[in-house]
Amino acid sequence: MKSEMFGQIPHWYALATIAYLVAAVLFILALRGLSSQETAKRGNIYGIVGMAIAMGATLSFRGADFHPLLIGSIVVAVVIGAVMATRVGMTQMPELVALLHSFVGIAAVLVGFSLQLHLGVFLPMAEKIEIYIDVIIGAITTTGSILAFLKLRGSVSGKPLLLPARHFLNLAMLAAIVVLGVLYGQKSELWKLGAAAAIACFLGVHLVAAIGGADMPVVVSMLNSYSGWTAAAAGFMLHNDLLIITGALVGSSGAILSYIMCKAMNRSIWNVIFGGFGAAPPPSAAKPAQPAGDVQEIDAKELATKLKEAKNVIIVPGFGMAAARAQHAVREMTDVLRKQGVNVRFAIHPVAGRLPGHMNVLLAEANVPYDIVLEMDEINADFPNTDVAIVIGANDIVNPAAEEDPTSPIAGMPVLQVWKSKLVIVNKRSRGAGYAGIDNPLFYKPATKMLFGDSKVAIEKVVSELKS
Ligand code: NDP
Repeated sequence: MKSEMFGQIPHWYALATIAYLVAAVLFILALRGLSSQETAKRGNIYGIVGMAIAMGATLSFRGADFHPLLIGSIVVAVVIGAVMATRVGMTQMPELVALLHSFVGIAAVLVGFSLQLHLGVFLPMAEKIEIYIDVIIGAITTTGSILAFLKLRGSVSGKPLLLPARHFLNLAMLAAIVVLGVLYGQKSELWKLGAAAAIACFLGVHLVAAIGGADMPVVVSMLNSYSGWTAAAAGFMLHNDLLIITGALVGSSGAILSYIMCKAMNRSIWNVIFGGFGAAPPPSAAKPAQPAGDVQEIDAKELATKLKEAKNVIIVPGFGMAAARAQHAVREMTDVLRKQGVNVRFAIHPVAGRLPGHMNVLLAEANVPYDIVLEMDEINADFPNTDVAIVIGANDIVNPAAEEDPTSPIAGMPVLQVWKSKLVIVNKRSRGAGYAGIDNPLFYKPATKMLFGDSKVAIEKVVSELKS
C-alpha cells in the first residue's frame, strides 16, 4: 500500500522535497555559523548553497509550465543583488536591509492578491485566513520598511511623528482590519482584501513614523522579524514547506535580536511594536545638543607616550571608525602596542555603529584577533583597572548621561563606562553629537582628553608616533 502511494509521487517532486529539506538544514547551519565571528564565513557559505539548492528545487517544481521569463528575471535579480552587495558601504547596510525587507513584504502581498484573483470567492476557510494574514503583515512590512529606509537614508526626518491620539488611531486601524477580516472570512471578496491592505499600508507608515531616530535599529530588526512571518504565511498559502521553515527562522531570529537590542537600549519591546517609543521624549530631548563645558585636547605624540606607559588599554569603536574606514589603522595600532607588551582589548556595545554586529564585521575584516574583541557585558567591569580607554568615533554608546541624567533621552540605556578608566581619549572630528543628537558630558570629565580629527588620519599619526 505504502509503495503504491509513493509510486504515485513523481520523481521530480520527491527529489525537490528532499532538496528543500537539505536547504532547510543548511539555513539552520547558516544561522548557527553566523552567531560567532570565527564561524561566520562558513555560515554564509551554508546560506548561499542552501539558497541555490532552494531556487533549483523551486524551479523544478514548476515542471512543464516552466517559463523562460522566470529564468530571465532571476538572472536580472542576481546581477542587481551582486552589484548592490559590492557597492554598498558598511555604513549604508541598515538602509539596504530595510529596503530588502520591503521586497519580502511586496512579494507576500502580490502572492496573496494573485491567489485571491485566481481562486476568488471559492477559497476554503484555511486559505482565506492564510491570504488575509499574509497580505496584512506583508503590507505593514512593505510600507514600514520603505519609511525606515528613507529615515535611515536621511531622505525623511528622523524625528518621531506625533499625531494626536496616535495610539487610538493604531487601535482603530487594527479594529478595522479585524472587522474586514471577519467579513472576508464570510465571503472572500477582493475589495475587502484591498481595503484591509490599504489600512495595513497606512498602519506600517504610522508605526514607523512614530519612532525616533535613535530607536531605528530595533525597528529594522522588528521589520526583519515581520518579513520572516510574512514569508512563513506565504509558505502556507503556496504549500511550500521551505518557505514556512525559512520564514519561521527569519521571524524568530529577528524577534530574538529585537529583544536583545531592546535590552541593550533599556527599552520595552512592546513600545517598539506599537510605535510609541521615543515618541514622547523628556523635555531635554527637544533641546539641540549644546556643548556644556571646556575640553582638554591631546595630540598624537602625547597620546603615543601615554600608550607606551600603559599596561591595559581598551579600545571602544563606534560609528566614526566605520565612517572613516579606520579599522586597519586601529588594527595596526593594536599590533604595535601588543608587540610592546600592552594588554589591548576591544569593547563592543551591542548597538555601536549603525547595525548589529557592525563593529565586529569591521574588526574581523581588519584581522583583529577574535579573542581580544569582547562584548559590553564581558568587559564593562574592567574599565576601573584600565590605564587608557580610547574611544574611536563613538559617542552615544559611551555617554554617561544614560546613567547620570534621568531626563536624558537615552536615560537607562546601558553604556560602556569608559569614564571609569584612568585616562579616556575620545577621537572624533568635533564636539558634535552622535546619532541620538545629544551632548556628551564625557568630553568634559577631568580624565578625558579629545584627539580631534578623522579617525583614520588621527590613528595613523598615533601609529607612526608609536613606531618612532
Ligand atoms: P554615534 O552616532 O553616537 O557617534 C558617532 C560619532 O562619530 C559622531 O559623534 C561623530 O562625531 C563621529 N564621527 C563621524 N565621522 C567620523 C570620522 N570620519 N572620524 C572620526 N569621528 C567621526 O555612534 P555610536 O557608535 O557611539 O552609537 C551608535 C548610535 O547609533 C546609537 O545611538 C544607536 O542607537 C544608533 N544606531 C545603531 C544601530 C545599530 O544597530 N548598531 C542602527 C541605527 C542607529 P564628529 O562629527 O564630531 O566627528
